[in-house]
Amino acid sequence: MQRNKALDFDSDTDYLARLRKKTVGFDDLKRLRTELVIEATGERRRKHGIKEKAETLVKVRRDRDIVTVLTNPKRFPSPVRPVGSNSASTRCTRTQAGTQLDMTLLNRLLRFNAKTVTVQAGIRLRELAEKLAEHGLELVGGCDDPDRTVGGAISSGSLTAAIPGEGGDLASSVVRLTLITPQGHRLDIGQDRADLLRVALMSYGLLGVVCEVELRIRRIRSYAMRNKTLNFDELANYMPDLAQVRAAVKLFLLPYRDTAFVEVRVTGSKNRPVHGWPWKIRNWAWNSVLPRVVHSVGRVIPIRQIRDPLIDTVNEAAQVLVNRGLSASGSNSAEQSGQFRTLSRPQRPTRIRYCTWAFPACQFGAVVKAYRDFCRAHNKTSKFRCDLPAIAYRVDKDQSALLSPSFDEQVFSLSVRTTNTRGWENFVMEFAEFAAGFAGIPLFNQTCGLTAGYVEDVFGKRLAHLRAIRRRMDPNDRMLNQFFAEHVG
Ligand SMILES: Cc1cc2nc3c(=O)[nH]c(=O)nc-3n(C[C@H](O)[C@H](O)[C@H](O)COP(=O)(O)OP(=O)(O)OC[C@H]3O[C@@H](n4cnc5c(N)ncnc54)[C@H](O)[C@@H]3O)c2cc1C
Repeated sequence: MQRNKALDFDSDTDYLARLRKKTVGFDDLKRLRTELVIEATGERRRKHGIKEKAETLVKVRRDRDIVTVLTNPKRFPSPVRPVGSNSASTRCTRTQAGTQLDMTLLNRLLRFNAKTVTVQAGIRLRELAEKLAEHGLELVGGCDDPDRTVGGAISSGSLTAAIPGEGGDLASSVVRLTLITPQGHRLDIGQDRADLLRVALMSYGLLGVVCEVELRIRRIRSYAMRNKTLNFDELANYMPDLAQVRAAVKLFLLPYRDTAFVEVRVTGSKNRPVHGWPWKIRNWAWNSVLPRVVHSVGRVIPIRQIRDPLIDTVNEAAQVLVNRGLSASGSNSAEQSGQFRTLSRPQRPTRIRYCTWAFPACQFGAVVKAYRDFCRAHNKTSKFRCDLPAIAYRVDKDQSALLSPSFDEQVFSLSVRTTNTRGWENFVMEFAEFAAGFAGIPLFNQTCGLTAGYVEDVFGKRLAHLRAIRRRMDPNDRMLNQFFAEHVG
């Protein structure tokens, strides 16, 4: 799909102002305005003899730009999809011939006190964490991919290794949000309307565009890190303890090496100082260097028998040297600040492909062992293997959002990740079958290979409730793209 040059409201306004200064006549101005509209609504192109319309990308700078777009379907065709850092791995932000709203310029911190901070929805977690750190404050949820936007993270599934009591995702720390409805009205939803807030959180932009968010914050709190290396059978035996430990749990899984690195984060009574630089190096190595190295090894070494073990060795070494060697203590603030990899953006897709499922914690011991066997069997038949370790988080029960994957019980999420894309599509389709066999719970922004029937089975009444509210709030399907028409309706 061809993408147009982004429409920037300010430069548009400047453009019109410059035109007016040139004292163009009314007809000229009308013509030029029309030209702008043509630029905004997309050009047609021929592909295999078929005419296609390109999607429109609009960079939002003010809340009223959102209203302008939503209330003008002729100029900005449906569906309208808000986009944060666009790190979703599914088609949830795609519009075909519709309009994408790039929210990342709506990025101001508006106000804060010791307990809450109010921000515009396009601010990235990293920018927010850095600003809060100047005042000794931090976000409550421990999200470790800080390039995502606050609006995107609370509107979609965004899981994290949370310390008990912190909630399973960033949505659980929302106190209030402001939504611009598909009709262009501002709607403030606070905890006094808890039922509506629960529907609005993780609603994937189906009820409107979130433009402002108030989040709970706290003083920076440190945690100590403990590490353990196990094989998959040992990990499965250890799983009941990991489900109960009063700490955040993160796992790095290397199925072809039969090795699991367990990272446990424990908060103590003492607040020890945390240095930021080990976290910066850790994140740079983990999110930028490692994907590049394994990708290059995969490309330059054609012989599988040499390439695959080498990739495993690089991954294992990265775990030992970087994750375990560098940081013995941390804080949400240290983890979220710093300069490192940028996630996918409309203009620059990330190299990493990923797919996440959540599994009931009581089954996860069986899941990890079966996952190792599944990867090996799939590799034997297809020759495909993920070249990055899978990551798992323990996510405690969290009912703050209607579509929360841990709404009913504690879960472990499992993200499979790769830079190697040949064979990936087949892998995620088979992985979806594997996940369904273990009552896997999908996330609309992170789970590839979903079928509508399966989604209906998993979310049942909760999905029906969201669907009913969506249809009431958006009777003209202004926000509904093909993906959500298939999965939510
Ligand atoms: C390399 C990599 C690693 C990742 N690791 C993790 C991980 O460890 N844990 C995890 O949970 N996720 C992870 N993700 C997924 C991703 O970070 C989350 O999906 C994230 O929460 C989405 O934030 P975003 O700003 O990118 O939202 P987008 O992907 O841009 O949007 C997600 C959804 O929210 C909607 N939306 C966006 N902004 C708004 C708004 N202002 N108002 C209303 N709706 C909106 C979109 O329409 C879309 O439906 C990873 C992604 C990548 C690429």
